[in-house]
Amino acid sequence: MSLDLETAAKERGIKYFLVSYTDLFGTQRAKLVPAAAIASTCRNGAGFAGFATWLDMSPADSDLLAIPDADALIQLPWRPEVGWLPADLVMDERPVEQAPRNLLKRLIAEAADLGLAMKTGVECEFFLITADGAEPADMSDRQTKPCYDQSALMRRYDVISEICDAMLALGWNPYQNDHEDANGQFEMNWDYDDALVTADRHAFFKYMTRSIAEKHGLRATFMPKPFAELTGSGCHAHVSLWRDGRNVFADPSDPTGLSPTGYHFIGGLIHSADALAAITNPCVNSYKRINAPRTNSGATWAPNTVTYSGNNRTHMIRIPGPGRFEFRLADGAVNPYLLQAAILAAGLDGIRNHRDPGPRLDINMYTDGHTVEGLKRLPLNMLDALRALSGSAILGEALGPFVPSYLKLKNEEWNAYCQHLTQWERDTTLDC
Ligand code: GLU
Ligand code: MG
Ligand code: MG
Repeated sequence: MSLDLETAAKERGIKYFLVSYTDLFGTQRAKLVPAAAIASTCRNGAGFAGFATWLDMSPADSDLLAIPDADALIQLPWRPEVGWLPADLVMDERPVEQAPRNLLKRLIAEAADLGLAMKTGVECEFFLITADGAEPADMSDRQTKPCYDQSALMRRYDVISEICDAMLALGWNPYQNDHEDANGQFEMNWDYDDALVTADRHAFFKYMTRSIAEKHGLRATFMPKPFAELTGSGCHAHVSLWRDGRNVFADPSDPTGLSPTGYHFIGGLIHSADALAAITNPCVNSYKRINAPRTNSGATWAPNTVTYSGNNRTHMIRIPGPGRFEFRLADGAVNPYLLQAAILAAGLDGIRNHRDPGPRLDINMYTDGHTVEGLKRLPLNMLDALRALSGSAILGEALGPFVPSYLKLKNEEWNAYCQHLTQWERDTTLDC
C-alpha cells in the first residue's frame, strides 16, 4: 500500500506537489499540482507534450503521462509547503521504455530475478559560482592546492550547512562536507542506499543544491569541466551488490576484500567502458574532464584509462576497502537514473559472463601509465563514446529502446557542436 498523498498533504502542511520526471539529458521537468488534485493525478497522471523535452518523441504523439511514485515523496526543506514526487512515464497505456527512471526500475527488477540488489552511494561534486556563471564566486578562494581548505569551506558555511541541515531533516544521514580540489568546488556526502533510492536522492540533491545556492545569490553547477585549468566535477559511485541481506562483493580472504563476483562485476564495467562513457560522461564538455592534462593542483583526479586499482585515485575504478568499489568515471552531468542503470547493466553482464577485469594496477596512472603495454584509454570525445555505445551489443540488449533514442538525440547534439566555431579555432587558424 503506497502512501496516501492527500492525507500526507494534510498532516505535513503540503499545499502543492511537484510531479517531476528526469528526461534523457537529465533535465527535470515538472507540473505543480495543488494538493486537492493529487489523488486524481496519481490515478490519471500529469500530462506533458513529450516532444517538448529530451525523450525522442514526436509532436504528433499523444499525451505523455507522469505517474507519481507516492512512496518517493520528498518535502522541499527550503519550502516545506511543496512536495517533490519523482514520476514514471506512460504513453498510450504503456511504460515509456526509454525514460530513465522506468529503465532503472526494469534493470533493478532483472537483478531481483537473480536474487540481487545493487546499493550505491554517489559523491556529487559541484562549483559555487557567480550568478552570471563566469567564475568561482569566492574571490578569496585562490590557493593552487585548495582541497579541504578550511577557510574557504567555512566562507560558504551558510550554503553548505543549509543543504546539510536539509539532508539531516530528510533522514539521508549526511556525514561529511568538504572543499574539493578546485577553487569554488565542494562535495557533500550522504549514506549509500538501494539504487533507486540513491537515484531519486541524487536527482533531488542537484535540484536542492541549485535552489539553495540561488537563494544565497550564487549559482551551483555540476558541469564536468567549467574551468579549463581547474579540476573538474566527478560523480563517483560506490557500488555493492546484495543477496538476502548479505553483501556478495565482500570476501575477507581477498587482499582488497573483494569477492570473485565483485571482480566479475568490475570486469563487466571494464569490458563496456567505452560504451558506458557515452552515458556516464554525457556531454561534449565531459571529455575535457577525463582527458585534461594536469591542472593547477598537479592532478586532475579523473581517470583517462580503462583500469582498476586498490586504493589509488588515478584509475577508473578504485577498491578503497572491503566489499565495494568506487567507479570514478562518471561526471557531474550524468543523469542520476542512467548512471545506476548503466552500471547495473554492464556489471550484470560481467557476472553472467565471468568477465575477467585483468590485472590490478597499483601505479600512478598520470605519471607511469605509459609504462603499461596495451593500455586502453577512455574515449577522447563524445563522438567516440557514442560510436562505442552504438557498437555495444551488451548495452544495446540490456538497455533496449533507450539506446537508439539516446544515440539519436546525442548525435544531433554532437552535430550541433560541430557547427560551432570556437575562439581557439579562430586564434590558431585565422592567419594560416
Ligand atoms: N574532482 C575529481 C574528478 O573529477 C575527483 C576528486 C576526488 O577524488 O574526490 O573526478
Ligand atoms: Mg571528490
Ligand atoms: Mg570519491
